[in-house]
Amino acid sequence: MTVSLEQEINPWEAQSARFDAATKKLNLDEGLVKILRYPNRELIVHIPVSMDNGKLEVFTGFRVQHSIARGPAKGGVRYSPDVTLDEVRALASWMTWKCAVVNIPFGGAKGGIICDPHKMSPGELERMTRRYTAELVEFIGPEKDVPAPDMNTNEQVMAWMMDTYSMHMRQTVTAVVTGKPINIGGSRGRREATGRGIMITCDQAIKKFGLRPENTRVIVQGFGNVGSNAARLMHEAGYKIIGIIEVDGSIYTKKGIDIEALWSYREKNRTLAGFTEAEKADPTELFQSECEILIPAATENQITSRNAAKIRCKILAEGANGPTTAAADEILAANKVFVIPDILCNAGGVTTSYFEWVQDRQGYFWKESVVNEQLADIMISSFNDVVRYADTHSVNNRIAAYMLAIDRVAYTVRQRGIYA
Ligand code: GLU
Repeated sequence: MTVSLEQEINPWEAQSARFDAATKKLNLDEGLVKILRYPNRELIVHIPVSMDNGKLEVFTGFRVQHSIARGPAKGGVRYSPDVTLDEVRALASWMTWKCAVVNIPFGGAKGGIICDPHKMSPGELERMTRRYTAELVEFIGPEKDVPAPDMNTNEQVMAWMMDTYSMHMRQTVTAVVTGKPINIGGSRGRREATGRGIMITCDQAIKKFGLRPENTRVIVQGFGNVGSNAARLMHEAGYKIIGIIEVDGSIYTKKGIDIEALWSYREKNRTLAGFTEAEKADPTELFQSECEILIPAATENQITSRNAAKIRCKILAEGANGPTTAAADEILAANKVFVIPDILCNAGGVTTSYFEWVQDRQGYFWKESVVNEQLADIMISSFNDVVRYADTHSVNNRIAAYMLAIDRVAYTVRQRGIYA
C-alpha cells in the first residue's frame, strides 16, 4: 500500500502502522487490539492568559491518557506552535509502550499547548502553565497521571505545575509531576537521564559491532536537553562526536568535537553559531554523513522514505520520539542499519522519572550513584530483552520492542478483566 508523504509523517499513522504490524505478529485478540489502539481519555482545553501587553490571549492545550492499565498515566508536556491532537495521541501511546518496554508500573500520557514559547516572556509562560494545570486538576495526580518535561518545557515549568496543583489541593504534592528542580522533590540524575540512557544503549549496541567508544564516530542532531547530555556523556566516555546538527548552526570535525568546550560556548553565547573549534557544516549533508552512530535527538519525522536510503550510519539511536517513519523502517532494515528504537533508546528519562516518583512518595532521596546504577540496570536488561525478542521472532528491533510492550500491556488488561 502506498501512502502519501503527508500520511507517512502523521505521527498517529506512524504509531498505528507499527502497532498493527506488532499486534498481527502477536496474533492478538481482535477486541484487545481495539482496546489498546485508541487512547482512554483525551482532554482539550482553551485557556485564557493575560499577556504582557495587557491583552488576553486564548491558547489551546491537550492532555491525552492512552492507557492506565499498568499504573498511573505518565508522560511529558510539550510547548510548540505545531502541536496537534494526533501528535499528542501518538506520543501518549508511545509512552505506554515505552513504560512497558522498560517494565515500569506506568501507563502512557502526553500533553501539549499550541504556543511559541520562544516568543513568550517568563511571566506569560508561567501564567499559561498555571492555567493549563488548573484545567487539568481533576485529570492529573500522583495516582492518576503524572506529567513531566518534554520539548520546550523544563524544571521551571514543572515547578509551576507542582505549585499550582498543590495550591488547589491545599497541600504540597511533589509526586504530581516529575523532572522538578532537586530542592522541591526532583531526582538527582533526572536532567541527564535521557542522554545517559541513550549512551547505555549505544554501549550495548557497539559491542555487537566489535567497536570501542574510541573508534566510534557519532553524529548528534539536536543540542537540547536530550542531545546535549547524550553528546557530553558520550564524549566523556571516549566516543568521538564528529558532528552536531542544530537549527542555529551545524558543526563538524573529523577529529571529534570537544563537547565540554562547546557546552561552555553555548552557555555563554546561547547559540552554537560562531564556535570556531569545528567547521561549519550543511545540516542535510551532515545528517547523511558516514558514521557509526547517528542520534536524531530533535523532533519527529527526520528519516522518511525520501532520505532513509541516504543514511550512512551503522547504528541509529533514536533520542527523539518518532524520528523515523514506518516507510523509512523498511529501507533502513534493507540496508542493515541497527536501529535502537525510540521507545527503548530514550526511555532513560521516564525511567528516572519513575525513580523520582518513588522517592517523592517515600520522602527519601537517593544518591546520584544509586540513580545511575538503577538506570543502567533497567536500560541494559531492556536492551537485551528487545534484541533477544527480535532474534527469536525474526523481526526488527522496533517491531520487537512494540511486540514486547504490547504483550505486557495486553497481559495486564486480560488479567484485570475487561469492564465492558
Ligand atoms: N518527555 C519524556 C519522554 O518522552 C519524559 C517523560 C516522563 O518522564 O514522564 O519520554
